[in-house]
Amino acid sequence: MDTLADSDLLQLWESMRQQTLPRRAAALLAVAAPELASGQLAGLSLGERERRLLALHARNFGASLPCVADCPQCGEAFEFELDARALAAGLPESSAVPTRSIETPEYHLEMRLPSVADSIALAEVDDARHAYRHLLARCLAGTTRTGEAVAPEDLPPALLEEAAGWMEAADPAAELMISMACPACEAVLSEPLDLAAFCWAEVEARAPRLLAEVDALASRYGWSEAEILGMSRARRDAYLALVLS
Ligand SMILES: [Zn+2]
Repeated sequence: MDTLADSDLLQLWESMRQQTLPRRAAALLAVAAPELASGQLAGLSLGERERRLLALHARNFGASLPCVADCPQCGEAFEFELDARALAAGLPESSAVPTRSIETPEYHLEMRLPSVADSIALAEVDDARHAYRHLLARCLAGTTRTGEAVAPEDLPPALLEEAAGWMEAADPAAELMISMACPACEAVLSEPLDLAAFCWAEVEARAPRLLAEVDALASRYGWSEAEILGMSRARRDAYLALVLS
């Protein structure tokens, strides 16, 4: 996992601002983890994506994940912090075997774990109610009934449940949930943790600060954006201190 250069961060902020969160997450990982070929990145399981996003956040934006929650029981709004490194250490592993088949006298199911490419495709489905169906159609693409292709919604519910159960068990970190007790009433809340959103929020917070630095130094010294962003943090801070003094 590399540290994102400031120029890369601004480039991502600019090019991905109209994109969905799964695309933004993939773009961040593509820059921060250049050791992954793009095909490998698209094929990562979602649990593996979460693991890498935690590492990316810890390395580039710090380990602290500031959270806010509203208690559904008493309405109390409260803040708390999660630690990306501790979360990463506790993440359950994704299965090393990302595919499985089920054979019955009538049906043959070929399934695979949802991947980064699936998350991107699903975010572009217009109707969120159909997203799960699209996911199944993608991940159960090789399914047949007496040799003929069959859509997941035409499968017996018990087989579908078995397939969904396997996906969940084989990639338990795909959808991270956090539980915490409300400080006011002690009700236990369970909330999904969207790491793509956390990472993107940091990009959106940092980009205008970087632009302000470029603005301050370019106005004073006439340097180009590339020259300013290419400076070490220490040197840029020293010049900024001079400009402000
Ligand atoms: Zn409460």
